[in-house]
Amino acid sequence: MMLSWDLTPSVSSMRCDRAWVEIDLAALAHNVWQLRQRLASSTELMTVVKADAYGHGAVTVAQTALQHGASWLGVATIPEGIELREAGINAPILLLGATNTSEQVRTIVQWNLQPTICTFKQALVFSKTIAILKAEPIPVHLKLDTGMSRLGVPWQQAVEFVDRVAQLPYLQIASIYSHFATADSLDPTIMHLQNSRYQAMIDQITSLGVLSPRLRLHMANSAATLTDSTLHYDLVRVGLATYGLYPAPHLRGTIDLEPVMQVKARVTQVKTIQPGTGVSYGYQYVADRQILMAVVGIGYADGIHRNLSNRMTALIRGQRVPQIGAITMDQLMLDVSTIPDLQEGEVVTLLGQDGKEMISADDWAETLGTISWEILCSFKHRLPRVAVGQSFLALQNKCGIKVE
Ligand SMILES: *Cc1c(COP(=O)(O)O)cnc(C)c1O
Repeated sequence: MMLSWDLTPSVSSMRCDRAWVEIDLAALAHNVWQLRQRLASSTELMTVVKADAYGHGAVTVAQTALQHGASWLGVATIPEGIELREAGINAPILLLGATNTSEQVRTIVQWNLQPTICTFKQALVFSKTIAILKAEPIPVHLKLDTGMSRLGVPWQQAVEFVDRVAQLPYLQIASIYSHFATADSLDPTIMHLQNSRYQAMIDQITSLGVLSPRLRLHMANSAATLTDSTLHYDLVRVGLATYGLYPAPHLRGTIDLEPVMQVKARVTQVKTIQPGTGVSYGYQYVADRQILMAVVGIGYADGIHRNLSNRMTALIRGQRVPQIGAITMDQLMLDVSTIPDLQEGEVVTLLGQDGKEMISADDWAETLGTISWEILCSFKHRLPRVAVGQSFLALQNKCGIKVE
């Protein structure tokens, strides 16, 4: 369902004169709302907006998500958190990455960010620095490694770790969390093992009696959120699904998501290529017949992976056309023989929907042997992000539609 109209972007502006990324706010609002509706009312929704909201633009995504059911934001780095605060966003922001230095602690306190603590040494740096600053105690989030083998205290040492951190002044343990390694797998064995380790640790920690009743527990990323509601705990940390992609094919039926990002560019030249003519660097493509060729103003410096050369298609006027020859830094070529009257300046959809045809980040990920997360993050900032569509909230205000 797409409760939206007036989706036509103002493509006449300079921002869309060459190549750009369109961010569909209606789709984004829809996805956040769909996610929110799958959660118990006691479970909070954190929208993960690290890496510039997976390339979608962190401030726009954060504002829209907060208006449509999210109450927390997750970022990877301190500058990512500061960007949101500078935009006037007041929601709690969890730093998912580790921070180690007293300089970082000062910045975290100054900008009211909430850190993840993964070692007792880090906890000491926080406690001492805040004492020197004579600041108020700050909320901290303790990370347990239950089997991801990335950040966090190994689960076997979790009870002692939490007990020791709880004794330190200036720190309030706001949450204890962990992260799944295989939640998108068809086989849930490891996910369940990680969850049972987590639960056993939480049970033991609870019996210490050092935790505030307001402490939150959280485990789930997108895949775990869509897979199993018993993994939701007090909060879920959702990235990918917010952006309208499914973490795995078997999760497609679980929720209705709309892709948020489209990548578009303009035709800059149209010409006829004679049989036997090589196209682009290295002549990876040689025409075996006369073709009509379009040059398009987007290339690998914009995030169109060069390994897609001769292996991708694009959409023009709702038709699918093959890409030919090596993709270059700023331009690529298409065989547009099926559109004989194509004009310079017409819009090409590299990623997204045009009429009945659709090219998704999953298609590129499959061709390139990677995951859709990496595809979304690969579009460079040379491409302006252009917001289109209307969010539910705007619709609500404009049309008196009640979203309940
Ligand atoms: C990135 C991240 C998430 C979000 O993962 P998705 O698969 O995109 O939903 C959740 N938790 C942590 C700790 C992360 O680093």
